[in-house]
Amino acid sequence: MFQDAHIHIQDLKNDSQITRFLEEARAHEVGCFYGCAITPADWDMVESLSLRYAGFIPFFGIHPWFADIAPSGWEERLRGLLERYPLACVGETGLDKTRKNIDMEDQKNILACHLRMARDYHRPFALHSVRAWAEAIALIKEHAPGVPFIAHSFYAAPPILGEVLDLGGYASFSTKQLMRPDEALKELVKAAPIDRILIETDFPYQIKWTSPEDYIEALKAAYAMAADIKGVPLDEFIRVIRHNGRFLASQALPRQGTT
Ligand SMILES: [Zn+2]
Repeated sequence: MFQDAHIHIQDLKNDSQITRFLEEARAHEVGCFYGCAITPADWDMVESLSLRYAGFIPFFGIHPWFADIAPSGWEERLRGLLERYPLACVGETGLDKTRKNIDMEDQKNILACHLRMARDYHRPFALHSVRAWAEAIALIKEHAPGVPFIAHSFYAAPPILGEVLDLGGYASFSTKQLMRPDEALKELVKAAPIDRILIETDFPYQIKWTSPEDYIEALKAAYAMAADIKGVPLDEFIRVIRHNGRFLASQALPRQGTT
């Protein structure tokens, strides 16, 4: 069974399209989705999808592109969701230096807050880091060392991969990256231990999608390309990646003894 370690299906907006999409994907052996919210405006939808579809794991958070418009009270609401859903995770969160209009201090404060919640509730988190690895790693070390996380659309210098792995991270490679992998990406895929790799689409972003069929085809092609780069038979690769996803999700534990 295939899984998609990073998807924003709620951004299709249209409920019947979303239903058709998820059912079609499931019929084609895509059985697990890490559904990442982007802003609190998405949280209700992500929550409802997680209740309607087995295999849809909700991630609640604020994407760094929206760090400047985080509504007041979001922290309480996020805590409430993490308490209500013991399997819910944190994210998408992170830092993005290419978004010069979003104040870096706002981004860091919001990431730090997400990290503390991931630590306190012991939930994996989905991390977006673009040209900000030094800062992101420093914040993880400070606020959530040892909490497993997904480095989404991972692309960084090889020493950063070592740090991500040491901190408990998984390298998630996207369909877009794997469609035309450059040498640096191939080296990263080769260097990442197979038990720390995930595959994602970031749907509906990164690629122009027109139908669920496009999506399914692209996700499967990404698995095939990554397996090829790793030099591992495709069946085995699919099995290991699924295991990785299950193991990561099983790290979500209800908060214990907080009094
Ligand atoms: Zn994303």
